[in-house]
Amino acid sequence: KQQQFLSELSLPTETRDAQRIELFINAGLISGVESQLSEGADGIGLYRTEVPFMLQQRFPSELEQITVYRKVLAAAAGKTVVMRTLDIGGDKPLPYFPINEDNPFLGWRGIRLSLDHPELFLVQLRAMLQAAQKCEQLHILLPMVSNLDEIDSALAYLHQAYTDLNLEQKITIGKPLVGIMIEVPALLYQLAEVAQRVDFVSVGSNDLTQYLLAVDRNNPSVGNLFDSFHPGVLRALKKAVDDCHLYKLDISICGELAGEPLGALLLVAMGYNKLSMNQASLARVNYLLRRVHKHELVGLLSQVLKLSNATQVKSTVLSFIEQRQ
Ligand code: PEP
Ligand code: MG
Repeated sequence: KQQQFLSELSLPTETRDAQRIELFINAGLISGVESQLSEGADGIGLYRTEVPFMLQQRFPSELEQITVYRKVLAAAAGKTVVMRTLDIGGDKPLPYFPINEDNPFLGWRGIRLSLDHPELFLVQLRAMLQAAQKCEQLHILLPMVSNLDEIDSALAYLHQAYTDLNLEQKITIGKPLVGIMIEVPALLYQLAEVAQRVDFVSVGSNDLTQYLLAVDRNNPSVGNLFDSFHPGVLRALKKAVDDCHLYKLDISICGELAGEPLGALLLVAMGYNKLSMNQASLARVNYLLRRVHKHELVGLLSQVLKLSNATQVKSTVLSFIEQRQ
């Protein structure tokens, strides 16, 4: 079957009724990015910069970061690259920056850490801007935002990095689009204000599920409770896309749910048309989406949103797929 999936990877992802869905890949290492992109993705929907940081013994310098980011942009060959600023803390420790907390997932992670260490944050922003120069392919994404002030502060640092570089260098550095991750549930209720500040949002369904359900995403003792198909989580995801359409805010999704065939169908049904996933999921999701009608998916979704638990949701979507094979 995998062979069959791969044979269609170069064909555009379009439902039977001509709804174009853009598929992106999640990446962290440079190696492999080039081949991944030639295999049918519309770009890199999430580049996790913490990965190159985790491979080092100390914080990489501005120049070292420029080199890494340039390689990533070059490998994407003109296609969009959504580069996320450092998202350490929580489940992503840096060996040379120990953080000891009782509740790491509720603690010092993502943008919180960057805003408390502007000297690190500015270096990273400067490196991204220099790596991209004038090219419009770079989008900057801020992780773990939980309030609007964090967005305003981060944008002020970005503006500082941008003005400093334009003063220092003779060439003009381009201004990238900026977005935030939707991972903290409270932001689902502030999308109108978010839309006034940034160009796009990307839903991190892994963390959003973790925080909506109060279930540690990595703890096997509660692993059976961590489920993005929970009807409450699905309603939250639907609200996110509806509000973004209302406020004309570009939205994509980059958590694991987007790469799961059943999840991808429901997300497209909700109105998501940009899905970012691990490279391994790309061919299968493309194959599946090319075989369904958007209007049938909408019918499926309204049925699914009335169900009472994740098990019922998954079996309903599965039988929908099976009926079409
Ligand atoms: C997410 O939270 O869904 C996400 C994509 O970010 P990460 O998995 O890197 O925390
Ligand atoms: Mg996350």
